[in-house]
Amino acid sequence: MHIIDALKKQFTLEDNVLLIETKEATEHYGKTTFSTPVNIDCVIIIKKEITIGKVLKLANALQFNLYPVGTNRNWGYGSFNVCSDRPNVILDLGQLCEITGTDKELGLVTLGPGVTQKQLYEFLIKNNWEYMVPVTGAGPEAGIVSNALERGYGITPHNDHFYACTALKAFIPHPELCERQYESALSSFDQSDTDFIDKSYKWGLGPYIDGLFTQSNLGIVSEMTIRLAPKPEYFSAFYLRVFKEEQFEKTVELVKDILKNYAGIVGSINLMDRRRLISITTENPNRFDSNVLMSEQQIQDIASKNQLPYWLVVGSIYGDKEVVKATKKMFKRKAKTIGTVLFSDSKRIKAATYFFKRLPKVTFVKKITAQLASLQEGIDIMQGIPNQVALPLPYWRNPRIRPNKNNELSPSKDNCGLLWYAPLIKMTASSLNNFVRFIRETTPKYGIEPLITFTNLKHDCVDSTVPIVFDLHQPEQIKNAHDCLNELIQKGAKYGFVPYRLDVKQQENLDAEHMFWQTTNLIKDAFDPNRILSPGRYNPIATKENPINLKD
Ligand SMILES: Cc1cc2nc3c(=O)[nH]c(=O)nc-3n(C[C@H](O)[C@H](O)[C@H](O)COP(=O)(O)OP(=O)(O)OC[C@H]3O[C@@H](n4cnc5c(N)ncnc54)[C@H](O)[C@@H]3O)c2cc1C
Repeated sequence: MHIIDALKKQFTLEDNVLLIETKEATEHYGKTTFSTPVNIDCVIIIKKEITIGKVLKLANALQFNLYPVGTNRNWGYGSFNVCSDRPNVILDLGQLCEITGTDKELGLVTLGPGVTQKQLYEFLIKNNWEYMVPVTGAGPEAGIVSNALERGYGITPHNDHFYACTALKAFIPHPELCERQYESALSSFDQSDTDFIDKSYKWGLGPYIDGLFTQSNLGIVSEMTIRLAPKPEYFSAFYLRVFKEEQFEKTVELVKDILKNYAGIVGSINLMDRRRLISITTENPNRFDSNVLMSEQQIQDIASKNQLPYWLVVGSIYGDKEVVKATKKMFKRKAKTIGTVLFSDSKRIKAATYFFKRLPKVTFVKKITAQLASLQEGIDIMQGIPNQVALPLPYWRNPRIRPNKNNELSPSKDNCGLLWYAPLIKMTASSLNNFVRFIRETTPKYGIEPLITFTNLKHDCVDSTVPIVFDLHQPEQIKNAHDCLNELIQKGAKYGFVPYRLDVKQQENLDAEHMFWQTTNLIKDAFDPNRILSPGRYNPIATKENPINLKD
């Protein structure tokens, strides 16, 4: 019997679930940015969190693989990797989007697993909460809980999204326990009628288990409490344009100094190279021939036309007006020998915005107005206002669709090709220099543009995100993109560049014999003896002969 027929028999009207059949399921959920669509047997959309337990029970009884998704927008990494041994069923949690204001004064908010950045933003506005959404570049429709469970990050002051999680509840897949909700020991200990202590104190009591639900396949999180960053009294973004390539090392030292000595005032800092800036600010000059990379001449022409530097440092200063003013002054002084600094609250930018908005819309004015609008969107992101400013990037080599930010963008639905290489790198000028050289040598071998961003969250360790953008319509380019990522990961590891997060294909290459993954496997056995929940997700399979390692 097909799994959907078996499932139809199990759910009652009261369960209020929606089942989606194979063809539609594959069409709507199976598209990725790095493969042909993944075949899905069925999707279950639920409306009540209690149904999670029932679905897990059914997965154990009927023996199907179950993959939960929050908003299914894990573009460039993939939300699931299906196996062929059993039916593959997606559990869509997107309708569980309740938002509860746990404590307005403290900025604690409890979210269902489907809450999007936009929904949280609207909640904060409607209820006059002076707090910021922990936004990412994935746009207003992307989830908050799912991103935290991937241990994603952003550039608002609470940049590490799982770090900001103070409590969560979940269902584990064990056949005998799956219908009971997991919560921390503090929650059950507390006999008062509030759950305040549990929701405000991250570490709970006894072993810290909440973290096991991140980058794993050990449970389905049904709600999460996060601590939001307060809106600052005053804010300014800064832009340091570095026009001399040889100033790179000095720039890195400056960023390190700022993050070390001004933590709490200066948020994370982004450092982008010229090609990456071109990919953000202009259209691909070779858009209609996706096999061609930008030539040095094209890069120079675009850069001089748009006054793009070799490196751009973008960061944010939060505080009261006096603190921001003093920090700006300090930054300007320290950056003096490197390049020119521009601040978002400067009269120059305000005047330009005012001026160009009022001019007749001839081509050159339209272009500058668009650039100023993108600048404003970047500033909005730093202030916790979600938008689509980063989303055109995956369309860079898509010859068929031009991204229009006035519509909702979906790189997977629009068949854009994207994989991320996201390694952590020691924050020294020489390591970063080696990294830049490594990327520029490696990616062109595979026909991939070397686009580099460093996101500096702390002064000791940098996270780089290198987007591997390609044409998904061309099978050879898909293969090259995966081969490129593979070389970056394997070779990069030898230099000490180690990914903080992996796409679903690379997760298959993790060394199952390593003690860390052996330990993970033991935990998996205990939580999920039938291995029904997202098999293989950050959980390399131990024995090749017995791929799902089922217990007798
Ligand atoms: C242009 C661009 C910019 C981006 N910028 C950023 C960025 O700034 N920061 C960043 O971190 N990422 C970024 N991304 C990557 C990615 O799109 C986001 O991280 C996105 O939030 C992840 O997708 P999602 O939230 O829809 O998660 P989903 O796809 O819903 O889920 C992600 C994973 O978590 C698991 N999961 C989800 N919900 C649950 C649950 N309740 N219980 C158990 N497991 C669950 C799923 O099984 C899945 O494997 C970007 C992508 C693009 C294309």
